[in-house]
Amino acid sequence: MSLEIWQGDITSLKVDAIVNAANRELRGGGGVDGAIHRAAGPKLDPACQALGGCETGEAKITPGFDLPAKYVIHTVGPIYSGSHSDPLLLAACYRNSLRVAQENGLHSVAFSAISTGVYGYPLGAASKIAFTEVRKWLRDHKDYDLRVIMVAYDARTYALYQKLLG
Ligand code: ADP
Repeated sequence: MSLEIWQGDITSLKVDAIVNAANRELRGGGGVDGAIHRAAGPKLDPACQALGGCETGEAKITPGFDLPAKYVIHTVGPIYSGSHSDPLLLAACYRNSLRVAQENGLHSVAFSAISTGVYGYPLGAASKIAFTEVRKWLRDHKDYDLRVIMVAYDARTYALYQKLLG
C-alpha cells in the first residue's frame, strides 16, 4: 500500500478509479466534475442517472468509459458552511470512496480535492482531513493492497500536500 501525491489533471490518470467531486444529483457540473464528464464521454451521464443521486458524504461507482481510468467513484462533498458536520461529512467522502474501491476489488485510486473548489471548503482544513482519513483507512486495512494518489490541480494545493505527506 502507498500514499502518493501528484499535480495535474486527474482525467489523464490511468488508475483503477478516479474520485470525482460530484453533486447530489450526479449531474456533470463545473470544476473537476465537468472535466471528468467531458473526458469520459456521453455514456457517463446516463450511467450516473441510473444511480438515482448520492447523499453528501456517500460514494457511488460507474465505469470510466472513455477515460484512461477503469472506474469513476462519485462522492459528494459538503458545501462548506462552518458547521460541525462539515469535517465529518468530508471525512466520510474519503472513507466511503475507499470502501467502494475495496468492495470493487480496485487497487489504485486517485482523489481530487473534494469540496475545495465551488463548495468552498478552506483548503488547509480540507487537506488535513483528507490525509488524516486516508492514512487512517490504510492503517485499518493493512492487508489490502491499495495505492492512493492525492491529486492537486494547482500549485497551492500541491504545496500543501507536500507538507502533509512530510
Ligand atoms: P467541489 O464542488 O467539491 O468544490 P470542484 O470541482 O469545484 O469541486 O473543485 C474540487 C477540486 O478539484 C479543486 O481543488 C479544483 O482545483 C480541482 N480540479 C478542478 N479541475 C480538476 C482536474 N481536471 N483535475 C484534478 N483536479 C481538478
